[in-house]
Amino acid sequence: MKPVLKLSDIDLYYSNSDKPLIVLDKAAFTLNRGETMALIAPSGAGKSTLLHIAGLLERPNGGEVEVCGKSCSGLNDNERTVIRRSEIGFVYQFHYLLPEFTALENVMIPQMIAGLNKKEAENRAEKLLKYLRIGHRAGHRPSELSGGEQQRVAIARSVANVPFVLLADEPTGNLDPITSEYVFRALTALVRESGFSALIATHNHALAKQMDRRITLKAGKVIELS
Ligand code: ADP
Repeated sequence: MKPVLKLSDIDLYYSNSDKPLIVLDKAAFTLNRGETMALIAPSGAGKSTLLHIAGLLERPNGGEVEVCGKSCSGLNDNERTVIRRSEIGFVYQFHYLLPEFTALENVMIPQMIAGLNKKEAENRAEKLLKYLRIGHRAGHRPSELSGGEQQRVAIARSVANVPFVLLADEPTGNLDPITSEYVFRALTALVRESGFSALIATHNHALAKQMDRRITLKAGKVIELS
């Protein structure tokens, strides 16, 4: 299987106090094409940091990130942005939908920024919202939607440009258990159906069990769980 994401020897530390805080210490993992992987670790272990580095939002102090076989450490910020936009999708715990636009428009906008025309963007946005069973809410603004509906719009938006890798940081962390289960199933079904790979940070072990692989962070290192 081909890796879509490969992190090798990643070091990340903060040295803004007397004693440097080592968050990642030669952390490494590979995510293969079509695989879903859960990242389960206590708060403060470095999950968000690892996702930010994997998503090229943050540069590590050492090590290498490869996205779809391409080494990213030597790239400048513009080149990293191009890869991030075309190959990586993000879902956050808090969705950051644009409040003045409808659900449909929120899913269309990133596609239009990527160069699709309005009709193409609208068609794909409609399909995605229908797939996530919120097609009937497409004309509503985020404030008129429930938390679970807003999160499904955010998921549709994050995959609208057909990324290779979906990175999610506690995507259901602020939802009630039933909605959380529902949104999580919608997310993993979409990932499986589309052939994406996904790395999802979650505190929820039951949800993590539904994924192909599970990893954790211990003393800055990635450890594969059974
Ligand atoms: P998690 O997502 O697992 O809760 P984070 O990746 O957010 O963990 O943070 C890992 C560690 O790095 C924490 O101890 C956090 O306090 C620390 N940290 C995060 N950002 C900074 C920063 N800018 N300066 C210093 N320490 C930071």
